[in-house]
Amino acid sequence: MSLGAAAALMAEARRAVALTGAGISTESGLPDFRSLGGLWQEADPMAVASRTALERRPEAFYAFYRARLAKLAEARPNPGHQALADLERAGRVQTIITQNVDGLHQAAGSRRVIEIHGNLRESACILCGAVGPISLLVEALDAGGLPRCGRCGGLLKPNVVLFEDLMPQAAWQQATEAARTCDVMLVVGSSLQVTPAASLPQEALDCGARLLIINREPTPYDRQATVVARGEAGRILPQLAAALCGTGAPGEEPAARLPN
Ligand code: NAD
Repeated sequence: MSLGAAAALMAEARRAVALTGAGISTESGLPDFRSLGGLWQEADPMAVASRTALERRPEAFYAFYRARLAKLAEARPNPGHQALADLERAGRVQTIITQNVDGLHQAAGSRRVIEIHGNLRESACILCGAVGPISLLVEALDAGGLPRCGRCGGLLKPNVVLFEDLMPQAAWQQATEAARTCDVMLVVGSSLQVTPAASLPQEALDCGARLLIINREPTPYDRQATVVARGEAGRILPQLAAALCGTGAPGEEPAARLPN
């Protein structure tokens, strides 16, 4: 697959939308869920990251999220995040829909980011829904207690979508709208196995868009994609940005070909 094919597809796009997953952040030191060494190899998701876990085994729940928050505190955007921000600045990508909760797209300078699974910047009360900074939750845990809402006394969780939670409606509507109105969907670093996020490429295809997939491993949508680039997002996206908007990592020549 040539860089030309990917760049040509993006160059023809009038409304390109990116859909990103945990894979775009592995090169920032944040493990994804399903890869070798991913989070789900260490823990059972239902035991640590579900609403039931929070209510019945809060120690395990908070230990899992504290470890993620500690890793996140050290994480910085990588060249893949930066390339997507470059593509947005150059008008080549209109919106990023992300399944990630790490905020690294915004840290890289992306402006239109739809976070369909919430974020780790904020805490939220599971009873009244009050939202505050994540420091409320962390400070309560540091003090040895359970984090509770100052308004109603309910438990605080990170403001992310847990297993058994509903999707945040406003973000989901925006994401669906973006998928239905784009003409190219650029999928980066997602196994496309988590629904309903994984239904967004189908929404885009059904509305006539074409898919460009950048991922280390095969995905269920590869056969329907116009272009598939198999490899590291932090290497491929800068090449794509360099080809489309003359940017890229300093000192790096745009590669003539993308890896298969
Ligand atoms: P996933 O773990 O199911 O899939 C990640 C995919 O990315 C895999 O197919 C893997 O091969 C690929 N990948 C890994 N590193 C890559 C790289 N450097 N370049 C290209 N591809 C790479 O993750 P998902 O599809 O996003 O869905 C699972 C859930 O993961 C989402 O709900 C998301 O909220 C959550 N999650 C988020 C973070 C984060 O915010 N950084 C981290 C872990 C999990």
